[in-house]
Amino acid sequence: MVGFVPTMGFFHEGHRSLLRAARAECDVAAVSIFVNPLQFGPGEDLASYPRDVDRDLAIADAEGIDLAFMPHVEEMYPGGTPEVTVDPGPLAQRLEGASRPGHFRGVLTVVAKLFQVVGRSRAYFGEKDFQQLVLVRRMVNDLSFPVEIVGCPVSREPDGLAMSSRNVYLSPEERQAAVCLYEGLRAAAKRVHDGDRGVEQVVAEIADRIDAEPLAELDYAAVVDEATFEDVDRLEGPARALVSATVGKPRLIDNVRLDPA
Ligand code: AMP
Repeated sequence: MVGFVPTMGFFHEGHRSLLRAARAECDVAAVSIFVNPLQFGPGEDLASYPRDVDRDLAIADAEGIDLAFMPHVEEMYPGGTPEVTVDPGPLAQRLEGASRPGHFRGVLTVVAKLFQVVGRSRAYFGEKDFQQLVLVRRMVNDLSFPVEIVGCPVSREPDGLAMSSRNVYLSPEERQAAVCLYEGLRAAAKRVHDGDRGVEQVVAEIADRIDAEPLAELDYAAVVDEATFEDVDRLEGPARALVSATVGKPRLIDNVRLDPA
């Protein structure tokens, strides 16, 4: 079995955890590094997205990865911006999709192209980008790709901040403030653990924590059913709390599982 880890590079522990899973579970382990212009909006950070290919290759090597695919933009899109793309459907209109129009169309289109290159395989994605993971699973089911999707848990800094290549944009003060996303989510999970089943209060718990942080601005806080990604009013089964906030320059995202026992 081929294990495949698609990435945009600038590796951190989150990427490494996917590489390790692919290495441990598959005969051949491959990674792709491609900063995909199609998934960036006009005002977004395509040009400044952090890159360090030499370091990435050293890390891939240290994790025992057999093969790295690092195409140029012209190789992936020889005819320029493609006219035929993957329609990500209604789920892509919500949350991240609402804030980043066209983002998931770009993501699914490049993932579909990468899956064509790799063929039958097991592909590893992080739960950090939970909506992306759900959409990739749906694409694979709906369009019959011969690829098994494996979701991997969020890797965090010691204080709980979800690791992200974009964390390098944070000033020291913003870096301290950024932990408010995880703290809000953790408070929400505790509320559910303590018996609260009302979604409104759980969402308010997250929003209040972000609002209390002067350097952070809330984009959305939401609770959705884990399987369907539909909004829920009451917590009756496994759900996800998701949050996005701008802290200084970058928009950060994070999520945790909510487990009403
Ligand atoms: P990116 O390079 O940001 O496109 O991410 C490549 C893959 O790594 C995606 O499947 C991400 O969900 C995953 N990933 C990014 N950050 C983390 C993290 N902190 N923990 C786990 N997986 C992550």
